[in-house]
Amino acid sequence: MSQIDAIRDAVLARAPGDELAALPLPEAVRGALVKAEETEMFAGLSSEEKDPRKSIHVEEFPLPELAPDEAYVAVMASAINFNTVWTSIFEPLPTFQFLTRLGRESVWGERHDQPYHVMGSDAAGVVLRVGSAVRNWKPGDEVTIHCLHVDDQDPSAHDDSMLAANQRIWGFETNFGGLADITVVKANQLMPRPMHLTWEEAACNALCNSTSYRMIVSPNGAQMTQGQAVLVWGATGGIGAYAVQYVLNGGGVPVGVVSSEKRAELLREMGCEHVIDRRAEGYRFWKDDTEQDPKEWLRLGKKIRELIGRDVDIVFEHPGRSTMGASVFVAKRGGLVITCAATSGYKIEYDNRYLWMNLKTIKGCHFANYREAWEANRLICEGRVHPTLSKVYPLDQTGEAAYQVHHNLVEGKVGVLALAPQEGLGVVDTELRERHLDQITLFRRHTD
Ligand code: NAP
Repeated sequence: MSQIDAIRDAVLARAPGDELAALPLPEAVRGALVKAEETEMFAGLSSEEKDPRKSIHVEEFPLPELAPDEAYVAVMASAINFNTVWTSIFEPLPTFQFLTRLGRESVWGERHDQPYHVMGSDAAGVVLRVGSAVRNWKPGDEVTIHCLHVDDQDPSAHDDSMLAANQRIWGFETNFGGLADITVVKANQLMPRPMHLTWEEAACNALCNSTSYRMIVSPNGAQMTQGQAVLVWGATGGIGAYAVQYVLNGGGVPVGVVSSEKRAELLREMGCEHVIDRRAEGYRFWKDDTEQDPKEWLRLGKKIRELIGRDVDIVFEHPGRSTMGASVFVAKRGGLVITCAATSGYKIEYDNRYLWMNLKTIKGCHFANYREAWEANRLICEGRVHPTLSKVYPLDQTGEAAYQVHHNLVEGKVGVLALAPQEGLGVVDTELRERHLDQITLFRRHTD
């Protein structure tokens, strides 16, 4: 039996930590990676034409030495995030530049600067080994991993660690990410895994759930209060579907935007009463590549007033160029546009008169600090926020999984099985699962 199969079997049998710690580690493991020598492979193609299935390879890479503040985690399952798509199409720039910069920082940083980049910013699995400086975690601990990679020896990391000068996203701006059989993480990325979920359900949350928590709930984000109305773009997408849950949990009023009747139905099943199908409405916020149409912003604003009788307090913004003009326009006087991305283009444009004359704010937001990620994870563990897993692929098909996300073909999250041999494994707390089964499996049922 290979070393990795022995690890898989031990994890599946929930072997005690000392047994896991005694198992030899393989010198190389499988991972989904892109290659530095291929960063020009899509030269001249549009974003749409760049195909992750061509650039993502599943190959063995040497397991790096463990730093004192790190852990090796046997990855049972991981998930696709949009940053996996960005990495795989080498946009807006090849991620090897991030690895080189990290490589210059320290001897441990040097390990990351390789001609391959093992991607992935989500995972659930079991701790196999910890470095000598790790206190709170040990082999055998079942964990999920959040993607904030931060050096706590930097003073700028000690207020909100997202403000740290060397803040990075694991598996995007670092190597050895979660789309692999074994990953390398800092101990301060570890969180207890939800015991009522399967490995793939447990693995799909941390990045998007924590991001939406910070954007909607945290004082570092919108800190939504009861009764506030929130326009959520992409409301059945990766971050949007968690945002809708946070708005509902916090006593807010979500107005969810989607692009099909199927997604509108899913959104209603989530409990979001006010739904806008942007395709059916036929919004054309941009007349052409250079000019927007304020009449179309107005039409969206009217639609929102029709639905809820007022303007929204908060706009949960991430499509970027295609929607930002409309988002700034429809936020109420004194309202907030909170943004964490620009999927459709980062050179955005809005009419500043609507911003200043109506005292609106645009606030940038990015992932979450450890405390925020921990709180968001606790809500998943307690069954108060639910995974939005809709599809699952084996690690070998990471390219296809990323392609699906790239082309907006899936709702919620796409899971990837690493060491888990099949879906459905890993549930321990059957009682909690049973209580929330309908919500846990909602996106999956909708996709089948
Ligand atoms: P996703 O799963 O692909 O969902 C995005 C949703 O946005 C889609 O479901 C789609 O919904 C909607 N959408 C796409 N293009 C649109 C357009 N032109 N106009 C209006 N709506 C559009 O992606 P995600 O995981 O939610 O991530 C969204 C973005 O946030 C990505 O750019 C990602 O990189 C970024 N992100 C940033 C952070 C951070 O920490 N800064 C964290 C997570 C994600 P409909 O077609 O149904 O409307």
